[in-house]
Amino acid sequence: MLLEINDLVVKYGNIEALHGISFHVNEGEIVTLIGANGAGKTTTLHAITRVPPPEGPKIHSGDIRFRGRSIQGVEAHTVVRDCHIALAPEGRHIFGNLTVEENLKLATFSRKDTGAIQQDYQRVYDLFPRLTERRTQRSESLSGGEQQMLAVGRALMTGCNFILLDEPSMGLAPLLMYDMFRTLKKLNELGMTILLIEQNARLALKFAHRAYVLDTGEIVMSGRAEALAENPDVQKAYLG
Ligand code: ATP
Repeated sequence: MLLEINDLVVKYGNIEALHGISFHVNEGEIVTLIGANGAGKTTTLHAITRVPPPEGPKIHSGDIRFRGRSIQGVEAHTVVRDCHIALAPEGRHIFGNLTVEENLKLATFSRKDTGAIQQDYQRVYDLFPRLTERRTQRSESLSGGEQQMLAVGRALMTGCNFILLDEPSMGLAPLLMYDMFRTLKKLNELGMTILLIEQNARLALKFAHRAYVLDTGEIVMSGRAEALAENPDVQKAYLG
């Protein structure tokens, strides 16, 4: 098991946002957490990558294990590096005054395997040819879809083999959403493990292997993505 979350309770101040959730991700899988606004999806990703308060939640109890080892004691700033986990956050967080290439380069900052970096640039540009055309363009002038590609590209440039994606379809036109998910699938076939949170449940269930349904801080359903997409309760609540 690559990632294992056990009975995780997290809070913002006195407010409990996750009430003891458990789930796991196996190596090579695409796993999705779906749920409505405010269900706790982003909170879960921030707890895993240990975004510190005030923006991030405080872990109250429970355990997060990576390859069988608890990351509770690992310093927050080294989780991404030591566990090879990268987060492509919602809202993109790219540096608008830097070019596409400069944004990608920044993500390689703490890498020790410098020999593999060139190959990773090529991988990003192969996956997102649009970024190749715009490599010297300032990122603030990219379209929403291109910025989303850059956010994923940047996560790939960290040299990780496990990415956490926060709403990769957000702000994309329907055709571009499909392109993005097809690219993620391709990436997964190349060996990348993906944990994806998504409000577009239909799309997420189409591309993921397994899924968990999060409802106001609790996991209320789980199973193979295909089976959940056929489940009448899921259809009624999330695919309507
Ligand atoms: P969305 O799809 O709208 O982003 P989500 O499923 O990602 O929703 P979260 O952002 O994780 O949901 O929010 C879960 C709960 O925690 C919500 O009730 C939210 O108001 C609360 N919350 C999130 N961030 C904070 C914060 N920084 N301080 C206080 N409460 C927060």
